[in-house]
Amino acid sequence: MAAQRVIDTMARPFELNGNSVYMGASIGISLYPNDGSDADTLLSSAAAALHQAKLRGRGMLQFFSSEMTSRSKQRLTLEAALRRSVERQELRLYYQPQVDLISGQIVGVEALVRWQHPERGLIPPGEFIPLAEESGFVVTLGDWVLRTACRQIKAWATLELPLRQVAVNVSAVQLSRGHLVASVKEALEETGIAPNLLELEITESSVMLDREKSFETLAQLKALGVSLSIDDFGTGYSSLAYLQQLEVNKLKIDIAFVRDMTTNSNNASIIKAVIALGHSLGLEIIAEGVETPGQARQLRALRCDVIQGYLVSKPIPGVDMTQLMSTFPAMDIPVDNQALNTLLVVDDEPSMLTSLTRLLRNENYRILSATSAEEALALLALHPVGVILTDQRMTGMTGIELLARARKMHPKVVRMVLSGYTGLDSLTEAINRGEIYKFFTKPWNDAELIESVREAFAHYAEKIDVALS
Ligand code: C2E
Ligand code: MG
Ligand code: MG
Repeated sequence: MAAQRVIDTMARPFELNGNSVYMGASIGISLYPNDGSDADTLLSSAAAALHQAKLRGRGMLQFFSSEMTSRSKQRLTLEAALRRSVERQELRLYYQPQVDLISGQIVGVEALVRWQHPERGLIPPGEFIPLAEESGFVVTLGDWVLRTACRQIKAWATLELPLRQVAVNVSAVQLSRGHLVASVKEALEETGIAPNLLELEITESSVMLDREKSFETLAQLKALGVSLSIDDFGTGYSSLAYLQQLEVNKLKIDIAFVRDMTTNSNNASIIKAVIALGHSLGLEIIAEGVETPGQARQLRALRCDVIQGYLVSKPIPGVDMTQLMSTFPAMDIPVDNQALNTLLVVDDEPSMLTSLTRLLRNENYRILSATSAEEALALLALHPVGVILTDQRMTGMTGIELLARARKMHPKVVRMVLSGYTGLDSLTEAINRGEIYKFFTKPWNDAELIESVREAFAHYAEKIDVALS
């Protein structure tokens, strides 16, 4: 028919100044008198049909049908109501916690918008964000979300919480058409919060949509000091090299992979690969949509850093989130292999043992302590241990001697030494003989030590090659 011929003809490339140029057409058709008895009605019916055609993809044609008017009327009504939602204060920002798999504490929160519709009740974002994106209203909506989230961050920053950042979702439209950098700057300035407390979540596909423009925008955002994370990772086809260039901080593994990870080994393998690759680029990995303890356990075994999902909590209003964070007992996500979680600390000074144990208490390790090398060896024989942290100078057997023996009996245990002023010679030798994974000088730097113990456990997990359970 004629319309199809138009589409086919338009689809062929034509020459323009020596270049091949591609164009396309979509067609919406309305017929007199069924679809309208005057020109205006016929045109608007055709427009509704055209809209439908475009939704189905490129180069489509669509005849008008009467349910399109009711649907497009509904859309128009909803869109008009949505435009008024900001001034009518109908938007709500909900928050969902993110839990660190090692410490079990809430270390992050994602802000998720809802629309409290006067008649329809609470509408989830999936039902109005696409509409807001199509009409461009998402820019205004996004500004409201940013401002509201930053005010909430300011309130939370005054409480003593282990919160590292609050994430806000950013639409592709904000990235390409909006004034995102200016809005973020304004929200930061208005509230005076530390920029690194704000994290922007960008989907993989929206970054790749208009690479040049998003690169520029994201670089400016980085310069403001905010953190960036890639949402729904694994569903698009972004280049990791490109993401690294963008100085992204985090990858969020999409819920689609997490949903059946415990039963679908393909998805489990993808997750394992994403974690390994992400970590090697220095990125933090967070898994979305974690609903069961089994998923959490497996993710922990795979060395995922943080989880988010109904297992911890559904998205809730800000006040409830404040309450949850102030009363949250560290979650205990058991590891299948006890050694993956068991740390042996050895020092002949009890006060040292106490301060080391205290330093690591938020890390949820099972900590065994010994005041001599002999006692340590006895504990090693009784319990599975992943990492040993020992003082060097002890009466009787030294730390290095202890580690040499431990290595013979338990070759995979990761061995670390804390040393005061002892000569470096004996340490260097021990390191060269492969007896020690890492050594620290006393007094140690707290944050560094915590991080190194985490790395040591990660190293242990690699050594025993944690299999997918
Ligand atoms: P998202 O950013 O990937 O957010 C995660 C979605 O998964 C949220 O849906 C959350 O409620 C849901 N979820 C979390 N844990 C679980 C779980 O254990 N099981 C299941 N089945 N679902 C879980 P929500 O709140 O409906 O948001 C949907 C999407 O809407 C978001 O996906 C995001 O793309 C978009 N969105 C939400 N808020 C905003 C916003 O302020 N601005 C923009 N541009 N988009 C937003
Ligand atoms: Mg998100
Ligand atoms: Mg997501």
